[in-house]
This record gives sequence, C-alpha cells and structure tokens, in this order.
Amino acid sequence: MRAALADAAPSVWWLDQPGATALKASAADSFDTPIPAEADLVIVGAGYTGLWAALQATEDRPNSSVVVIDAAAVGSQASGRNGGFCSSSLTHGIANGVDRFPGEVDRLQQLGRENLDDIEASIAEHGIDCGFERTGNLAVATAPWQLEPLRDAMNQAANYGETVSWLDQEALRAELDSPTYSGGFWQRSGEAMVDPARLAWGLASAARRRGVRIFEHTPMVDLGASGAGVSVRTTRGPIRAGRVVLATNAFPSPIRRIRRLVAPVYDHVLATEPLSDAQLDAIGWRNRQGVSDATNLFHYYRLTADQRPSGGEGPRIVWGGYDAVYHFGNRIDASLEQRDRTHHTLAEHFLATFPQLDGIRFTHRWGGVIDTCTRFSVTFGTAHDNRVAYAVGYTGLGVGATRFGARVCLDLLYRPESPLLALDLVGRSPLPFPPEPLRWIGITWTRRALERSDRREGRRSLWLRALDAVGLGFDS
Ligand SMILES: Cc1cc2nc3c(=O)[nH]c(=O)nc-3n(C[C@H](O)[C@H](O)[C@H](O)COP(=O)(O)OP(=O)(O)OC[C@H]3O[C@@H](n4cnc5c(N)ncnc54)[C@H](O)[C@@H]3O)c2cc1C
Repeated sequence: MRAALADAAPSVWWLDQPGATALKASAADSFDTPIPAEADLVIVGAGYTGLWAALQATEDRPNSSVVVIDAAAVGSQASGRNGGFCSSSLTHGIANGVDRFPGEVDRLQQLGRENLDDIEASIAEHGIDCGFERTGNLAVATAPWQLEPLRDAMNQAANYGETVSWLDQEALRAELDSPTYSGGFWQRSGEAMVDPARLAWGLASAARRRGVRIFEHTPMVDLGASGAGVSVRTTRGPIRAGRVVLATNAFPSPIRRIRRLVAPVYDHVLATEPLSDAQLDAIGWRNRQGVSDATNLFHYYRLTADQRPSGGEGPRIVWGGYDAVYHFGNRIDASLEQRDRTHHTLAEHFLATFPQLDGIRFTHRWGGVIDTCTRFSVTFGTAHDNRVAYAVGYTGLGVGATRFGARVCLDLLYRPESPLLALDLVGRSPLPFPPEPLRWIGITWTRRALERSDRREGRRSLWLRALDAVGLGFDS
C-alpha cells in the first residue's frame, strides 16, 4: 500500500494535467488589471455556480456588465477537483428527491433532464473540450445484502423514466471486472462524465468571450447594501454592484443564514498512473461508465480521457469517496486536503477491488470541500432586499445541478415571475445544523453510525432512524 502511494504528488490531477497552464491563462483577467469600481452584476465565486451564472447572465442581458471575483483561482476548489459525474439529478439522487420533495419530484426530474441537455448544448456551442461523455453509471453491490436495495433503486429510477438494466454478477464483471462485485445495474441515461477542471476553465473562457471580467485572488471580505445596490468589499477595493450572486459553496459567508445551513466536509481522491493496454484488458471497462458502490460510505470511480488514439497516454483511474471528514468549527484549510489515513484506506480499497492491478502506482492524491446540508441538495435564498441571491448546499452532487442553481439565482434577482421560484426546492430551506460543539458531535456521530450500518449489512441504528424520521441527515 505504502509503495503504491509513495510517489503520489499532493496535488489535483485535473488541475495539473497537460495543457493546464494555457487553459488557466485564458480563464481569467490578468492580476495586473485593476478591478472595476462598479458593475451591474457581481458574482462571488468562480466555480460552476458562479461561472454558469455569468454565462447565463450574458444570455439574459447581453448589454449588462458582469464581474466575477474569486478568492483563489477559477475552478480551483470543488469545481476543479471533483469526480466529474455530471448527473441530471437536482436532488442528490432520485430516492432523496422522492423523500424530500414528494409533491414535485416528477417536475424536478424533468427539469434535471433539461438541465443536463442544456449543459451538453452549451458545451457544444462554446466548443468546451471537457470530454463530456454520456456513459451512464454502474451502481454496484459489493456484498449480497446490497443487492435488494440496489434492485429497489433501479426500479425507482425506471419508474422515473431512466433507462436501466440489471446486471447479474457475471454480466457486471463482463463490463468491469472486480471479484468484489455481486451484481448491480447500469443507468444509461441521466449521467455523463466530464473532465471537471476543463469544464470550469471552458465556462470561464466562454463567459470572458461574452464580455465577463474574471478576477482571481480577489477575496470578498464583506458586503452590504449601498444606495440602490450593494457594496462588495474585496481585498483589492470595493465594487459597487447592482445585484450580487454568492456562489461560495461551503466557504465562510457574510450571510449568517448560509453558515447555519451548510457544513464543509472533506472528500478525498486518488488518481493512478495511466493504465497500460494489459492493465485495461485485465479489468475490461470498455464502456467507460462512472461507477459507485452501494454502501453508505461509498466509493466513486471513473476513467480519465483515453489519449492513446492521438498518441498520448492511456486512461487513469480517479478513485474517491468513502471517508467524509468534518473538522470542528467548520475548519477549511489547504493542509486538510492531505489526510494519510484516508488516502491509505482509499488505496487499500482500490487494490481489494482490482487485485489484477497489483503493482499500480498512484500519481496524485488530493481532497476538496463539499458544502453538505441536511437535505443533501441545493438551497437558495436572498438577502439585502433581494439584491443578493445565493445557491449553496449541493452536497456531493453539484456538477450538473450548479447550472440549475445559477439559473434560479438569476431568476431570484431579475425575474420574480419565474415559475422556478414557486418550487418547494427553491422556496423551502433545509433544517439548519446546530452550532458547535453540537454540530461536530452530531456529524461525527452520524458518520460513525453510517460506518457501523455498513458493517451490519445495512441495518440502521436508532440514531439513524431518528434522524430519518425528522428529515435530518449527513451525506457526501
Ligand atoms: C472531491 C470532490 C468530489 C466531487 N465529486 C462530484 C461528482 O463526481 N459529481 C458531482 O455532481 N459533484 C461532485 N462534487 C461536488 C461538486 O464538485 C460541487 O457541488 C460543485 O463543484 C460546486 O460548485 P460551486 O461553484 O458551488 O463551488 P466551488 O467550486 O467550491 O466554488 C466556490 C468558489 O468560491 C470561492 N470563494 C469562496 N469564498 C469566497 C470569497 N469570500 N470571496 C471570493 N471567492 C470566494 C472559492 O475560492 C471557490 O472557487 C465533488 C466535490 C468534491 C470536493
């Protein structure tokens, strides 16, 4: 295990991939450019939420001035370091949608499908080279007790219009060969794979071509009403904004309500060296699906682009998930991205899943912050007399949902007649997390209970059942 991880760089494969320097350069204005004193719309955060908001704002109001600021760099946080599973679900999966929004789940599924289609169309329209592939997803059981819940999940997906097929152990292993698999299903619709960082950089470049100004290394330190607009105070001076979108994920927010609704949770990831032809033959995976297993603490994994046809390297495996770590006091710090214990556990689980790949080396190891909330799906709100709107709380499924989140933010600011604003998903907030130390105790306890449930064939403890009953939860 140690040998497999010995040379792994503490950095994000997606953000360090070949060609990254040029893509980063076209994604933002030069740091030497002074920030403007005013703009019609200021967007705080250059992840997917902020970038989709910028791009859609240029479509809605081609003549308005739009400025995006980011404390770090375009796509440097969750948006550039995730698994790249781009799902049509706006609700962190159908089951969660049915539980939380029973009255409108059909409509949310439909909106989610349209959202994914629109993402695909925008990627094509703007020529974003981010490897968008509608591969679908394999949901796999790694123990017999997981088969029945997986069958139920498959039937539910089919009832909501998804294209699914059950794979018994032999059929599943013909798709992707692991001795740990008992069976599973392939959801062919509603799930695409993307290169996450290339998507972020591509969105930023497209927005800039439409006149959006993007300023990196420009943290907002505060904001407040000013005349008919909002003053966004940054470390490089204030910007007077007509309207503001806050797209700051789990990072500390000047809006107290957001701090109560989301908690930053670290998710950790490994990337292997490129696979040789022999290694690929040993596992199959010709259809390049995304994969997730069926435990509470689940793994997700996928292949990176196969560059062999153009003379480049073979695909790598990106492998993440399992531990979801909350640090006391909502702590966010770059040092927390490296966690030996979790990276070793991930490597161990990888080699148990694919013993055929014994001897493989991991080249990159990283972590990133997820904005978890108690209903596991995006939550919206406004502040300062509807001049500020926010979308946060995607939990671990925001690659696709962020485009929808950005749409709703713009409608909250500019289109009060939008039918989207009548959705329960938009109008109702999740239950907040309690303050510390109860927040840490509650999240840590729940995480341990989920781990125990996985060890006890999925049986849920009294604590988990009590949380289920009041609609509280913890997920990644
Ligand atoms: C390891 C990992 C794996 C994941 N895998 C998947 C997956 O496979 N599929 C999926 O659907 N989702 C996945 N997610 C979740 C998904 O990446 C996020 O939901 C999505 O990227 C959120 O986008 P965002 O723009 O809201 O946030 P971010 O991308 O985090 O962007 C927020 C930005 O705001 C900036 N910011 C914060 N505060 C300030 C401030 N005060 N001033 C200026 N700027 C500020 C930050 O620097 C950051 O760039 C994963 C997340 C992680 C961390």
